[in-house]
Amino acid sequence: MTDQGKKVLLAAPRGYCAGVDRAVETVEKALEKYGAPVYVRKEIVHNKYVVETLKERGVIFVEETDEVPEGAHLVFSAHGISPAVRDSAVQRNLLTLDATCPLVTKVHNEAKRFARDGYHILLVGHEGHEEVEGTAGEAPEVTHLVDGVDGVDRLPDFPVDQKLVWLSQTTLSVDETMEIVNKLHKRYPNLENPPSDDICYATQNRQVAVKAIAPQVELMIVVGSQNSSNSKRLVEVALEAGADDAHLIDYAHQIDEAWLEGVSTVGITSGASVPEILVREVVEALAERGFTDVDEVTTTTETITFALPRDLRPART
Ligand code: SF4
Repeated sequence: MTDQGKKVLLAAPRGYCAGVDRAVETVEKALEKYGAPVYVRKEIVHNKYVVETLKERGVIFVEETDEVPEGAHLVFSAHGISPAVRDSAVQRNLLTLDATCPLVTKVHNEAKRFARDGYHILLVGHEGHEEVEGTAGEAPEVTHLVDGVDGVDRLPDFPVDQKLVWLSQTTLSVDETMEIVNKLHKRYPNLENPPSDDICYATQNRQVAVKAIAPQVELMIVVGSQNSSNSKRLVEVALEAGADDAHLIDYAHQIDEAWLEGVSTVGITSGASVPEILVREVVEALAERGFTDVDEVTTTTETITFALPRDLRPART
C-alpha cells in the first residue's frame, strides 16, 4: 500500500463540551482566585490528562468531603452530587464551588419534581457512575436503576396505579437507551416519558459524527479515558455503525502498530472530556506512519456555553 492511499477522517464535533469546559475553567479560576491548594471531590471530569495537569498546578483530588480540611475550598465535579454530599460539605464549613454541568442539574431537578409528584423513577444509567449516584441521591426511596437492557428484568413489579417515569444519565448511547426504553414501555404500559431528552446535546452530537464516518474506516481511534462513559459509548457506536475495529486510548503512544496493519482509512474522535491537544498528538502520530491526508467531517456546529459559578464570574464594571 502506498502512503498516498492512507487517510484520516476526523469527526466533528468532538472533544470538550460546554459542561466540561465550564468545570475545568471553574477549577482554574478557583486556583487563580484562592491559590493552591484547591480541593476537588472526585475527578473534575473523567480524563487522565486533565486531572494530572491540574494536580501539577496544586489541585488535590479527594473521594469524599471528610478528606478536606475544614474551611478549605472544595469544587464539586461536573458529574453532580447528591444532597447528602452537599450537606456534609456544609457541616465541615467547606467553601464550595459547584461545577456540576447544568444539563446534569436539569436531570436532578426532574428527579426531585417527579418524586414530589408521587412518581417512581426508572433511572437508565450505569451502576456506580458518579452522575447516577448523584441523581439517584435526590430521591433514593423512589429511584430504581436500570443498567443495560437486562436491567429491565431485574426491576420490581409496581402496583398498577403507581405513577412511573424514566430518566437517564446524560452520556449514554442513544440507540441502546431507546432499546431499553422500548422494553420498559412493554413491561410498564403506564410508564411516562421525561419532558425532554436527558442524553445531552454533546453526547448525541459526538455519536452522530462518529456514525457519519464509521462506515468508511477500518479503524476508529477514540481519544478518551477508560472511566469516561461518553468516550466508551463512542467506541461501541463506531463498531455498530460499521467501523471494522475501534479502540479507546488516552495518549498517542498507546496506538498499537498491529491495529494499523492493512488499514488505509483511520477515523478519529474524542470524548466530551478530552482536550484537543491529545487529538492533535494522535493526528501527528498517524502522520508519522504515512496517514498524512486528513479530512475533517463536520455533522453539526456547537455554540452552547455555560456561565461560571457566580463567585468566579468577572466583576461587573
Ligand atoms: S457530556 Fe453533556 S452532561 Fe456531561 S458535562 Fe458535557 S454537556 Fe454536560
